[in-house]
This record gives sequence, C-alpha cells and structure tokens, in this order.
Amino acid sequence: MLTEDELPRQWYNIQADMINKPLPLLNPATKEPLNADDLAHIFAAECARQELDQTHPWIDIPEEVLERYKYYRSTPLVRAYALEKALGTPAHIYFKNESVNPLGSHKVNSAIPQCYYCKQEGTTNVTTETGAGQWGAALSYAAKTFGLECAVYQVKISMQQKPYRSSIMRTFGAAVTGSPSMSTRAGKDIITADPNHPGSLGTAISEAVELATTTPHCKYTLGSVMSHVSLHQTVIGLEAEKQMEKAGEYPDTIIACFGGGSNFGGLAFPFMRHQIKGQRDNVQCTKVIDFIAAEPESCPKLTKGKFEYDFGDQAGYTPLLPMYTLGHTFKPANIHAGGLRYHGAGTIVSQLLKDGYMRAVDIPQLESFDAGLLFARTEGIIPAPESCHAIAATVREAKKCIETGEEKVILFNLSGHGLIDMSAYDAFLNGDLV
Ligand SMILES: *Cc1c(COP(=O)(O)O)cnc(C)c1O
Repeated sequence: MLTEDELPRQWYNIQADMINKPLPLLNPATKEPLNADDLAHIFAAECARQELDQTHPWIDIPEEVLERYKYYRSTPLVRAYALEKALGTPAHIYFKNESVNPLGSHKVNSAIPQCYYCKQEGTTNVTTETGAGQWGAALSYAAKTFGLECAVYQVKISMQQKPYRSSIMRTFGAAVTGSPSMSTRAGKDIITADPNHPGSLGTAISEAVELATTTPHCKYTLGSVMSHVSLHQTVIGLEAEKQMEKAGEYPDTIIACFGGGSNFGGLAFPFMRHQIKGQRDNVQCTKVIDFIAAEPESCPKLTKGKFEYDFGDQAGYTPLLPMYTLGHTFKPANIHAGGLRYHGAGTIVSQLLKDGYMRAVDIPQLESFDAGLLFARTEGIIPAPESCHAIAATVREAKKCIETGEEKVILFNLSGHGLIDMSAYDAFLNGDLV
C-alpha cells in the first residue's frame, strides 16, 4: 500500500507522448473532425476536453475526486506466491487488486470524476449503458454521492444472467431498464427488426445516447472505450509503478483483460511512457515490456478485427471512431464476461496496437474459467469472469517460463471480483459452459 502523500495527484495522458496520435473522431454526417464543443453535447465539457487533449501529459486530479479516491485507494499490489507455486513457474507474478473497493471493479475510478465534472457543470441527470453491470453499479454509486439522478440501460441478457447487479444499481437509487427496450426509438427499431435480440453494449449505448440528447441537463457517461476513461484509470498504473519500485522489481510483461481498453490502458500506459520516451525517472530505459491485452475468443476485435472508422453503437448515433472493430452490428455470443462483449477498441489502444507497442491474445471461455478457478483456489479471491481472461494469459506466459527457466516479472490487473457472478461459476463447475 502507498501512504497518502505517495498517491498520484495527476492522471497520465499518453496521447501527449504518442508519436503517432490517434486519428480524429469524425462527425458521421460531414466526416469532419469533431471538436470539444461537439462532444460536449453528449459528455461533460471537461471530459470532452480531456478526450481530445493531445498536448498535456499530466492532468490534475480535482481535490474532491482525490478525497473520494482515498476511500479505497491505494489498492494492493500483491505477489501471487501461491499461484506461482501451483504452476511451478520461476516467473514472479504480481497483480494489482482493483477488486477491493465496495463496488468490486476498477470502473469506479472513472465514475467518480465523470460525476464530479457533471455536477460542477450544472448537470442534474446522468445516463449510461452497462453490460454485466459493473459500470452501472459504479456510476449509480458515484451519481448518488454527487446528488445526480441516474438512468442505466443494461444489456438484457446480462440483466437476466446477473440479476443482483440491477439490485445494486437500484439500491444506489438508479432507474434500470433492460436493453433493447421499448422506451427509446433506437430500442423500438432494434426490437422490431429482431424481437429476440439479447441486447449488446451497442444497443444499450444507442438508447442511453438517445436519452441524453433528448433530455435537458442530462449527460451521457461511458465506462470504457473513450480516451478520457482510460485517462482516469491511469491511477492504477501510476500506483503500480511506485509499488513495483518498492518491491524492487520492474515488469517484463504487463497483462490486462480487454473490453474497450480502460483497465488495460489504466495499468499499461504509465509503464508504456518509459518505452515511448526511452527513459524512466530521467534515466535511460531500454527495457522493452511485453504488453498483452487478453480478449475473449468470441469477441476478438484486436486479434481478428479491422482497423477502420466505425460507430460505437448499434444504431449509429455516436461519432465515427478510428479503431479495431468487428463492425458495429456485430452480435457477440452470450459469454459470462459481459464487460468484454463489445465490438470495438478504444482509439488510443487501436493506434498503439497498429504501431506495435503491444499485442493481443484471444482466450476461449473454458480456458478463462480454468485459470480463474486456479487463481481462486490458490490466492483465495474469486475473480470476475472478465479478469479471468487476464489470469489465463498470465498462466500461459508463466508456463512458457517453466520451459525457458526465465524468472520473468509478470504484472497483471485483477480488474474485479466475481462474487456477483457465481451463476457463471456454477455453470462452469456443473460442466454446462461452452
Ligand atoms: C468493464 C470491465 C472490464 C472491461 O472493460 P475495460 O474497459 O476493457 O477495462 C474488465 N473487467 C471488469 C471487472 C469490468 O467490470
């Protein structure tokens, strides 16, 4: 753990240091690059500014946000000795435990600042989409603490798979609707075309954006994909950087699961800056870290998608984003890692992957739960189905070290716990999962 004065007071904006900047977001009608004013119709104005900021590498964390981070930060950096032993690997495995806050995932790191900026700017209502419900839960909590009304569209299939997540959101006072729903035009169109549509993050985003753009003083918020979200998540990597230093180690490999890229970017970007700048604390740094994004085999945008301009949602309400994508009408299989069922990747990560700073692997669902179970039985923490993908990629790398005898230092992000995902574990333990 870090002491209070060691906590990061600024977020790291990798866009400022990137050699090839992410391509601009485009207005779908005019194909012109969007400016911050355009984005501020949907998002908080400060988030819109952060989204497009390619010049300031460090952005101050507002005092009120710091205060709330202190409720649960810093989060522990843990060496997984028991997992190492079970695998018989010479690798040193560390994980950053983002599951320890009461909401149970990293999402609250961005929910707090997004609600803070909305409140500052006079917004009264926030809306969003959520898959498995971690983002919705984090936003509902943050909105309540800042006195904002919150409406959440939750992917219908996830709502059925994880009923307790909607209970959590409603406990924090949010109104929760399954998507696609009959309450928006986008939802009606989707249901008319496909009455049994299970919903996806794409359908839920369409509905939330429609609500935000048709309701006064209502802003849309997003838990992943956008650059300002990864920016807020860099508290993870900035803390980990100091904690690894205290442990006297430096990572050879950094791994996180990948939905839209926020927990991956949050952990990876502060370390990637050493590589981009070729230095660390003003000392030359030539070490090359192997950055690995672990995505589900059933939603493989990084390993099998195309780099092109695409919409962020099913109905085509969002700006056009330059990203690795499976196409905005892609319907992902109903895997339990609801947070990874998204068709596209954030624009920063997309550019970094294209430029060879990182790589991606895809993980079959059963392999992810095998790894999650091993982690639970060794480290005593039941990981979120999303996080199981990072663990599976870690297990793969740690097993390679058995063959080569290398004592690699592997750092992965435990993005959340799985205590509200026990129906998924039940299905796995009963042999019902595919
Ligand atoms: C939302 C979520 C993810 C995926 O989102 P990213 O933006 O890619 O981080 C991963 N793990 C957990 C626990 C989540 O809630």
